Amino acid sequence: MFLKDSRKVVLVGTGMVGMSYAYAMLNQNICDELVLIDVDKKRAEGEAMDLNHGLAFSGSHMKITAGEYKDCANADIVAICAGVGQKPGETRLELLERNLAVFRSIVNPITESGFNGIFLVATNPVDIMTHIVCSLSGFNPRRVVGTGTALDTARLRYLVGDFFEVDPRNVHAYVMGEHGDSEFVPWSQAMIATKPVTTICQEGDTQSCNAALGQIEVEVRTAAEKIIEAKKATYYGIGMAMVRITRAIFGNENSVLTVSSMLRGEYGESGVYVGAPCIVNRNGVQKVLELDLTEEELQKFKSSCDLLRETYAGLSL
Ligand code: NAD
Repeated sequence: MFLKDSRKVVLVGTGMVGMSYAYAMLNQNICDELVLIDVDKKRAEGEAMDLNHGLAFSGSHMKITAGEYKDCANADIVAICAGVGQKPGETRLELLERNLAVFRSIVNPITESGFNGIFLVATNPVDIMTHIVCSLSGFNPRRVVGTGTALDTARLRYLVGDFFEVDPRNVHAYVMGEHGDSEFVPWSQAMIATKPVTTICQEGDTQSCNAALGQIEVEVRTAAEKIIEAKKATYYGIGMAMVRITRAIFGNENSVLTVSSMLRGEYGESGVYVGAPCIVNRNGVQKVLELDLTEEELQKFKSSCDLLRETYAGLSL
């Protein structure tokens, strides 16, 4: 893989999330070739034209076209953002049935094209949809990556940085578990530089500090809901999270990102796609990092995994 010079991404689903990803890729000069596919061909064509008209103002030389599934044959990454958006009040898991049918019609022609790269999945419920792509494609799980809690983690780092008045880039903290209601923050593993936030809380007004962290966790968990209430959908943040993952893959970065990956014994869990800190490089998920979670945190992680495993087991795949 990646023996050729050009970096090629095929994007399936040119809706709000897909095009936010495409637009952010164009602005950050992430790939050399981008092919847009959508069930609504006219939409994909229009989006390709629109992006191409911005090329002269970007620092990128991307070749952008609307295409077909056969274009996946020599792609490095196929990103899937196709599906139906979350309605107000609808849980991510309720979206599942509608999105399962969509994925059946997408993954088969991609694998039939001879595609041999990395799948990046953003469609919700993302942990389950990523697992579905893995099963339908028969790919090695390390080459099927979901956006997981990458965006939730970015939201967390922003809010913790804001609270402690520290650059979010110096906040090392993760959201783990399902990208959804059972996600949680393992606070025992949250650091400002190398200092645990729990220690920082103990040095000041512990009670109000702990309450603030609890509030931050709720804010992270309910962020999507609030944005959907206000503007019907979320897309810029997830588009940028996808670009971050894409860059880690193309750059063979070995970056730690909380993507959704298949657990194979880590944290005592297996056979489940779930958000956890992973080392991401040109192989996709190179390794799932096992943090030293407390008993209570492990229990939360287990509950989240159980929920995902049960949901997945209920599907007729
Ligand atoms: P959207 O409705 O704007 O776009 C969906 C696109 O998929 C449309 O262009 C539609 O034509 C296309 N599509 C539908 N069926 C298709 C098929 N069979 N083949 C090809 N294309 C098909 O929706 P959106 O706002 O872009 O959201 C897309 C998905 O991303 C949703 O599932 C949403 O919940 C999810 N999402 C995930 C995250 C995350 O953190 N993982 C964040 C936000 C949204």
